[in-house]
Amino acid sequence: MKQNTAKQKKGKGNSCPFYKKCGGCQLQNMTYEEQLSFKMAKTIKNLGRFGHVEEIIGMEKPYHYRNKVQAAFGYTRGRIISGVYQSSSHNIVPVEKCMIEDEKADEIISDIRRLLPSFRLTSYNEDTGRGFLRHVLVKRGFATGEIMVVLVTGTNIFPKKEEFVSALLKKHGDITTVIWNINGGKTSLVLGEKETVLYGKGYITDILCGKSFRISAKSFYQINPVQTEKLYGTAIDFAALTGKERVFDAYCGIGTIGLVASDRAKEVIGVELNAQAVRDAKNNARLNNADNVSFYCDDAGDFMVAMAGDNEKADVLFMDPPRAGSDVKFLKSAVTLAPKKIVYISCNVETQARDLSYLCKNGYRVEKIQPVDMFPHTNHVETVVLLSQRRPDTQRHKA
Ligand code: SAH
Repeated sequence: MKQNTAKQKKGKGNSCPFYKKCGGCQLQNMTYEEQLSFKMAKTIKNLGRFGHVEEIIGMEKPYHYRNKVQAAFGYTRGRIISGVYQSSSHNIVPVEKCMIEDEKADEIISDIRRLLPSFRLTSYNEDTGRGFLRHVLVKRGFATGEIMVVLVTGTNIFPKKEEFVSALLKKHGDITTVIWNINGGKTSLVLGEKETVLYGKGYITDILCGKSFRISAKSFYQINPVQTEKLYGTAIDFAALTGKERVFDAYCGIGTIGLVASDRAKEVIGVELNAQAVRDAKNNARLNNADNVSFYCDDAGDFMVAMAGDNEKADVLFMDPPRAGSDVKFLKSAVTLAPKKIVYISCNVETQARDLSYLCKNGYRVEKIQPVDMFPHTNHVETVVLLSQRRPDTQRHKA
């Protein structure tokens, strides 16, 4: 195992009392070493046919790593509860403390639950659509200590909201922003459209790989910052930038990968669908004085088609799509843009394998495969794959 891998063997999982009901940590019945072996096997099964899989990069202290915690609010026998949905259901399993969540976030959520009755505030009932508090979302910048609390309500009335926020701040003076989000719809999405800032700036800032990042309630931000630095470090190493390259950062979120790469590239172009994330990305470019970076709000596939249509070229393409992976529209145009290197980051080896097959049939070769354990105790595995363009002249030599 790589040097950062936890070696502890003691106490085979199951230390969490909610293990079975919650379903969030599917691998808790294994030691951490066994989990890493499981993830290696999963990566080899799906990606092994493309080349050698490097040893997975594990986490030194694989606990309380989640910087973003979400709790659903409801009732049991007339008592307000908060916790997680039981796997594949909407029954709430009350959870006070979780071994993978940020401890501070768990404390804040418990205190909000305790505050509700004194303000005569109720929790939301999904069946009737009545009641008040539906979810609480907490995001904490591990490097800066900044904390965002999002109160998601089912109604658009928040009685005594100023007093409620004051009472919360009295208990947790380190909260830096409080946002009220309204979500009255029949939906499994946590956040609704409407957002009001009740306290602070409405976003938090965190530091990753030496760069500052502004993060909004709805923007995607990697949930395990300790491992994210290793993930991005691997991706940037794979790209082997020299300062002369034109780099694309597709599915760029708040611009993290592109901005980390920007010091070593001539130009960075990022594309992302979520408007709030793009706004953050543009602010992040300013925050880091990166004037060689531009961000666009668009579907990554449509954007690539337009770029390919304009005969644009790229030297390096970073792509980090969601679990569903990329699509042929995107991949076809990616091939037309003809980057010499593609660094494909994925949280789903199955869709990644599908997309790699397309790229390998269309002029690319897999050079390196590096799994990183971003989500200890769960069955998810993150992978970084380096592809290089098979050069036309090499092919001629072969013929
Ligand atoms: N690279 C970023 C974000 C990765 S998560 C990081 O490391 O933080 C995947 C991102 O893809 C999310 O921000 C999501 O909003 C975005 N996304 C999803 N579908 C997309 C699409 N069709 N086009 C562009 N971006 C998309």
